[in-house]
Amino acid sequence: FGRPWIFIRGVPSMDFLPPEGPLEVAFAGRSNVGKSSLINALVGQRGLARTSNTPGRTQELNYFVPDGYSGAAGDLPPMALVDMPGYGYAQAPKEHVDAWTRLVFDYLRGRATLKRVYVLIDSRHGIKKNDDEVLDLLDKAAVSYQIVLTKTDKIKEAGVPRLIAETLEKIKKRPAAYPFIIATSSEKGNGLDDLRAAILETISQ
Ligand code: GDP
Repeated sequence: FGRPWIFIRGVPSMDFLPPEGPLEVAFAGRSNVGKSSLINALVGQRGLARTSNTPGRTQELNYFVPDGYSGAAGDLPPMALVDMPGYGYAQAPKEHVDAWTRLVFDYLRGRATLKRVYVLIDSRHGIKKNDDEVLDLLDKAAVSYQIVLTKTDKIKEAGVPRLIAETLEKIKKRPAAYPFIIATSSEKGNGLDDLRAAILETISQ
């Protein structure tokens, strides 16, 4: 992931999607789960995805790609990272939630080049009701997804394996869930290499 990544497009509706080309992976999670921080940490660029606590910011799919592609051995394969709009803030009006669901479901159903969605779950909170609703949506759209725990530095180290086991138990009957969980901390750097490797493996399949 060690090359500059650039933002190419914010997609407010399906009409604005870039033409299908490189394979892509997407990131989803409740607002404030640490999604922007994780994307920035993955690519090693502080300002790529915006980190903010502002709920209800523009609902767009944000596309990031590695800048330039030489095709040289060891270069990143062509791919895109897609930052999906956060969900689940308490005061969101119903129209907002409906617009989110429409955009996301259309995208999940219609995007042949989407290989996997990484669903971020805050280690302190585990899977909440609105996360479950998003997992339902992913199962319904039959899009492969994997759970990524965030902010593991905020819980006791000994609690991490237990949380992984509990989370696995919760998703074990879900048809589109990948039965392996990645625990990360953007702050401490934990799990980032595992996530990078998982993404590269997904893209190269
Ligand atoms: P987003 O809304 O999902 O994009 O979340 P952000 O990336 O903006 O992060 C929300 C808040 O959580 C910010 O105050 C971050 O500094 C904090 N945060 C994000 N990742 C971590 C982490 O790994 N550890 C800790 N301790 N805080 C984090």
